[in-house]
Amino acid sequence: MNKKNQKHEQRGEQVKHSILTNMIIVPFVPFILAIGVSFYYFTTALESNTTSSLKRIVGDHRDMIESFLMERKSDLDLITNTFNFEQINQKESINIIFENLKKRSGAFVDLGLFDSNGVHVRYSGKYELQGKKYTQELWFKEVMQNGSHVSDIFLGYRNIPHFVIAVRQSSGKKTWVLRATIDTLFFDRMISKVRIGRTGESYILNKAGIFQTQRRSGDIRVMDKDLEYSGFPPTGDSIHTFIAADDAKNKYLYATTWLKNKEWLLVVRQEKKDAYKSLYSALYISLIIMIIGGAVIIVMAVYMTERILKRIEQLGQEKENLGNQLIRAAQLAEIGEMAAGFAHEINNPLQIIKNEQALIETLLEDISGNIDAGKNEDMKEIEESLDQIKLQVNRCSQITHAILKFGRKNETKQQVLSPCHIIPEIIHMIEKKANVNGIEIAINLSENCADFMGDPSQFQQVLLNLFNNAMDAIAERHGSSGGMLKIESCKENENFIAIKITDNGTGISPGNIKKIFSPFFTTKPVGKGTGLGLSVCYGIIKSFGGTMAVKSEPGVGTTFIIRLPAVN
Ligand code: ADP
Repeated sequence: MNKKNQKHEQRGEQVKHSILTNMIIVPFVPFILAIGVSFYYFTTALESNTTSSLKRIVGDHRDMIESFLMERKSDLDLITNTFNFEQINQKESINIIFENLKKRSGAFVDLGLFDSNGVHVRYSGKYELQGKKYTQELWFKEVMQNGSHVSDIFLGYRNIPHFVIAVRQSSGKKTWVLRATIDTLFFDRMISKVRIGRTGESYILNKAGIFQTQRRSGDIRVMDKDLEYSGFPPTGDSIHTFIAADDAKNKYLYATTWLKNKEWLLVVRQEKKDAYKSLYSALYISLIIMIIGGAVIIVMAVYMTERILKRIEQLGQEKENLGNQLIRAAQLAEIGEMAAGFAHEINNPLQIIKNEQALIETLLEDISGNIDAGKNEDMKEIEESLDQIKLQVNRCSQITHAILKFGRKNETKQQVLSPCHIIPEIIHMIEKKANVNGIEIAINLSENCADFMGDPSQFQQVLLNLFNNAMDAIAERHGSSGGMLKIESCKENENFIAIKITDNGTGISPGNIKKIFSPFFTTKPVGKGTGLGLSVCYGIIKSFGGTMAVKSEPGVGTTFIIRLPAVN
């Protein structure tokens, strides 16, 4: 491989790379941007939706728990306001009151009456608590101080985790306390009612981070310390959301809020991958779309690059062909000029021969009377030879004149031409060739067809080119018999005449028909066609103010239609 070829190949590779890179990058950038932006908006919308739905759940749940505790306290308030200490302090009546209380809520486990010293004076329930002293119990101190109290979960005398609601009442000088225990199972069920996704759960922690209820996942017990959760928000009724990981590094989305009348923290949490499940599905879908889209872009880019390179190569080839045609056209033009010069040069000796022949003729006339009859035969032969010389010299000068006429290119003279006169003259020039090729010529020239303006030799060039093309196409299809060439002329309308040349040759394929008026387009073998004929014809007809059109059906034939402005 020589250096030039190597360089050419290197350049080809560079062009290929730059087209390919551009083809990939240009659609890729907006594609990635579109996916990125929509993914960003989708994720932020989903994140904020998930957070706000978690917040809504925690808020609703808090309201529900608060109203539950409030209602249970009101239940006790109703009793203390309806009955006095003595009325409750009877075995039968506390049992009846407790039975009625249980009808109001299944959450109550037992009911107890305490005097101001914290002695459990009367009890209704399943434990043996009557007579026990609670003076030092935290809940008792709180209720005596504040009038009512909801305790944290504690073990108490019964040694089972529970919590109590107690209210203080004073009648006269007497102060007493009514206390009810809440069923932890009932309360647990109520708290853990929250069901979000696969892992959503809710529970309550006290100020010290001790579990007041169980967790749905069941991994801790009531009264355990929550070792994972450390970020207690400041008190108040606002809802806080954050993400934190447990010991097993599972990330959770938390929403927490303090209860209003009790220092309990309600926690609702859900595993992050569960909460953002649809987000991850969207991520996978986006990834798949990206991979498929990217692959399509790359495949298309490779395909298009190949096509473009092929086209570039084709154009290069066409350019080379065009260059060769141009060189050939220039050669033809040079030959034409040479021929014109040659004809001019030959004209002078021809004139001299003609003059000499005329001189010999005159001399022969002068001496013809003086020669004897025996020589008359020779004289006759000389005269015949001279006639022959005259005839041939005339033929030669006709040929040189024709060559000179052809060489005189740009001298056009426009004049009024009549189709009925000029067309038969031109047809006459091709009649012989048509005959040899077995082509029948049909002529239909309308008598009332109007005249037109044009240069006769240019018009002749146009028709001869069309006839020759038609005869070539006919010969290709039919060989030397069965050809048909039809020439028609008529007035198309007030302003235009139409000349139609129809043949039954090969026809022109739809792909080629767009190109036939382009210079250098030819389907003929090298040396036979230059591809200039029709483009020159088109230019000539245009210069006459007319148009040229073509209709063709492959395998049927072709019609060229020339429209020219009518001269009235
Ligand atoms: P050339 O005759 O040198 O090829 P032209 O410009 O005269 O150049 O014609 C261009 C091409 O148009 C021809 O090569 C031929 O393929 C097509 N063509 C022209 N006239 C006809 C016709 N009557 N029937 C079929 N093909 C034609």
